[in-house]
Amino acid sequence: MEPFLPPNANDRPVSQSSDRATERLVGWSGEFCDRDLERVFGAGQLPAFLLHCRRLLIASAILNALFLISDWRFAGTTHFWPAVLCRSAIILTSLGCHTRLHFVQSIANAQRVLGIWVAITGLCVAVLVSSHSELALFVLLLLPMIVYLGVPLPFRWSACSGVTVSVMLLIGFEVRRQPGETLIGLIVALMTLNVCLMLVVARANRLRRLEWHATRTSRAFADELFASREMLAKLFAAAPVPMVVTYATDGRILQVNDSCSAMFGIKPEMIGVTSFHQYYAKPEDRERLGDELRRTGRVDHFETQALCADGKLRTVMVKASLIDLTGGKALVAGIIDISEHKAVEMGLEWLASTDPLTKLPNRLSFFSTARAEMKRAARLDQPLTLLMIDLDHFKAINDSFGHPAGDQALRAFGALCVAQLRGTDIVGRLGGEEFGILLPDTDVRAAYSIAEDLCAALRDLRLPAPNEALRLTASIGLARVRLTDTDLDMALARADRALYVAKRSGRDQVQGDSVDVAQPPLLKIVP
Ligand code: GH3
Ligand code: MG
Ligand code: MG
Repeated sequence: MEPFLPPNANDRPVSQSSDRATERLVGWSGEFCDRDLERVFGAGQLPAFLLHCRRLLIASAILNALFLISDWRFAGTTHFWPAVLCRSAIILTSLGCHTRLHFVQSIANAQRVLGIWVAITGLCVAVLVSSHSELALFVLLLLPMIVYLGVPLPFRWSACSGVTVSVMLLIGFEVRRQPGETLIGLIVALMTLNVCLMLVVARANRLRRLEWHATRTSRAFADELFASREMLAKLFAAAPVPMVVTYATDGRILQVNDSCSAMFGIKPEMIGVTSFHQYYAKPEDRERLGDELRRTGRVDHFETQALCADGKLRTVMVKASLIDLTGGKALVAGIIDISEHKAVEMGLEWLASTDPLTKLPNRLSFFSTARAEMKRAARLDQPLTLLMIDLDHFKAINDSFGHPAGDQALRAFGALCVAQLRGTDIVGRLGGEEFGILLPDTDVRAAYSIAEDLCAALRDLRLPAPNEALRLTASIGLARVRLTDTDLDMALARADRALYVAKRSGRDQVQGDSVDVAQPPLLKIVP
């Protein structure tokens, strides 16, 4: 699979490259084996390098000017004019190189300039030490030290320059050697000095490069960390699903992404101060969510109502989990607005369960409610009675007044039932002009009375003009729902039998199932 983000050139793991680089420090010089890395190291030092070189050259010019004045003591000797010439040459070379450094853009060029300075200075000082003055021996040892330690050259240049300068000085010193001085001792001393200085330079090189490398590595790590934190923050902020991170204890908002801010109107100054609890429409839902999180550590598909920025109540689905942060436990939650989905779902549910003409529950819905009602009645040991109603001569009504008037009559009958019955009673259109009514906590006697009242009210029902002449009556079959009834169909069959009797007995009346015990005297019994 293709990676989500294209690989970045800077994505090279720093730790790996750093280990390799450290391993590749040349043992004897202390410089990087990798020429590119060495160049990068040098390039970063250019300004400091140039400053150091300029100071060195100025110091050289000043010191040699002072020595030139001091050399006046040789006036009149054979050594005087060579000393003046050499000192002047060193001063001019120092100043010339100093000026040249202003136009140098790279370390390599600057080192070339310094190489020239070392060569000319070495040559001139070799002439100067031939004077065998009281300072000559000191200078013999000092100049190699300056070349190694004071002139920033690559290790091999330093070594070559140091050795060459030492040899030149030795030759200059030996040209007019006094009897009794040991050449061998001087050579050994200079060799020792060169070796020691090479070791010092190599060690200094190594330490400087290791320090530079450690700093570079830690900076790269810090950059990498910053970049990944920045990316994480951007991803969180731009996530299309509203997300919030809160303290698990008091619900204070810790982090919130853009879509969540927009949804709830959360302003930056509210972060860390305001509790997210205020957005729950029902505090008991929040408690429930908290209980579930404490039990399982996460919740999926938790449905609740939220108070949104526009003041509206929205149905939302929450997915949340507990996480451990340094400051304690936190809750990270994604919130999806399912209001529209919920409205569509409810609309579809309503359509599936409601009769479009009378707006009463349809047969399917009536049966499913009845099942729950039967269980409830059995559990509470309460009587439950079923009425089955069929409007009389409805075909004739349709024929006389027209189908729309028939529809109007069906709607009016439905409304009459709702008005006539208690809120707990269940009315449904079973089909055509047949209706069912379940009367919870109602025994047969009370149900009979209710059915009689319904018949009477129907007789008095008048439709608006032009159907004011339409008269409606109904035949009602009544049956007690028994504990042995496993389904409503069983009670419905008995009510249907009673209804049949009511029809046969002249319609517009209530008839009860013969098996029902303790029949009230008023109730006509189906044989
Ligand atoms: P009975 O007294 O024996 O019940 O006679 P009836 O005419 O009511 O009986 P039948 O079952 O023969 O006729 C029922 C009629 O109800 C037939 C049908 O046209 C009418 N009907 C059923 N559903 C609707 C409806 O949604 N709208 C209208 N207007 N009429 C309907
Ligand atoms: Mg019928
Ligand atoms: Mg009928």
